[in-house]
Amino acid sequence: MFRQGIMFLLAAGVAAASLAQTSENSPAGDVSAARMAERIEALSGFGKNPEGGVSRVAFSEADIAGREYIKELMREAGLDVRVDTAGNIIGRREGSERDLPAIMFGSHIDSVPGGGNYDGDVGVIGAIEVVEVLETNGVATRHPLEVASFTDEEGGLVGSVAMTTGLEDSHLDDTSHSGLTVREGIRAVGGNPDRLDLARRKPGELAAFIELHIEQGAILDEADIDIGVVEGIVGIRWWDVVIEGFANHAGTTPMNRRRDALVSAAELALEINRIATSTPGRQVATVGRIRAEPGAPNVIPGRVVMSLEIRDLETAKITQVFDAVEAAAAQIAEARDTPIRFEPTGVASVPAPTDERMRRIIAAAADGLNLSYQVMPSGAGHDAQDMTHIAPTGMIFVPSRDGISHSPKEYTSPEDMANGSKVLLETVLAIDRGALE
Ligand SMILES: [Zn+2]
Repeated sequence: MFRQGIMFLLAAGVAAASLAQTSENSPAGDVSAARMAERIEALSGFGKNPEGGVSRVAFSEADIAGREYIKELMREAGLDVRVDTAGNIIGRREGSERDLPAIMFGSHIDSVPGGGNYDGDVGVIGAIEVVEVLETNGVATRHPLEVASFTDEEGGLVGSVAMTTGLEDSHLDDTSHSGLTVREGIRAVGGNPDRLDLARRKPGELAAFIELHIEQGAILDEADIDIGVVEGIVGIRWWDVVIEGFANHAGTTPMNRRRDALVSAAELALEINRIATSTPGRQVATVGRIRAEPGAPNVIPGRVVMSLEIRDLETAKITQVFDAVEAAAAQIAEARDTPIRFEPTGVASVPAPTDERMRRIIAAAADGLNLSYQVMPSGAGHDAQDMTHIAPTGMIFVPSRDGISHSPKEYTSPEDMANGSKVLLETVLAIDRGALE
């Protein structure tokens, strides 16, 4: 697996050897798989469900109790703990040099209903582990360090949106799984929804942000690779495609006199697949839903509405694929006399590439620890995608057994968790030494 690392570095055209040098007396060896496993187990006691996972939805009693446990661990690790106005728990350790921006790392501990014990939790426990190891080894960093446990990740990245681009008022009025509105929930965990401005961090205020997280897919597990270096979180765009034909008698209308909206839709669906397949890149495009009207066996479809979804790490690529689809649709519309229009149904999410330098630093950290790694996108959303707006951001994935997530069957081994925490530790130290400068 080492070879993959080499190939990536060559491909990136980077002399990463200097980044890979972990100091002789690196404290990474003191990252404890047993301690992490013990804490994951303890955390899973808050909101335990009968299936062996957790239902620790944000703002619930279980979430509030779990948050207290995390604050306690942070204090034991020597962190100065505060809750910002958005309810994010932030533990800070001062640096040796005044006026340097903080290096922030962390994740979330809230879960989906019927969730597992690792999504988010590994990132928070792993971040505390990093500080604990620095502390026991007496390692001072130049930059301040901040460990973050974000509010309500599963309910729409509430804490990280509040910290970066700001929460919409409408989102504050949404009812969360706890039964409380987001506004009430933020208050319940010690935040102040009337002063969310105070939770905002400006671009440049943080030196970097790093999130350790389980992959939630099966790529690392199936290939037996230790670490995923996340290239970014894919963007998703949706449209309704409306195809207008003419509904008419299926028995009396000759084949050459039809304006069949469903035949045009079928042609377009094939074109979409062909375009997404033949365009260079890793974009994906999907028609996942189709409705023909009036929807009777003996009537030529007069109208079809189908969905179009395109995903990629780059907005430009999503646009490129969409433009090609639109051009193909114009031809089909003309040839079959069935006007076709595309109605955007909202940007589900904007692509959030991680910082290229951060990817190199993380890859070099894995190399330095003799861990195999693969560069990969994230198909799921994470707090890190918001943090890309204000700080150089990186993400470290560790394997999820069988790729199962958002389920009580979610599992990551203690060794894999510890590997992730070691890479996080080395990444933090490399940034502290100036790897981003
Ligand atoms: Zn998560």
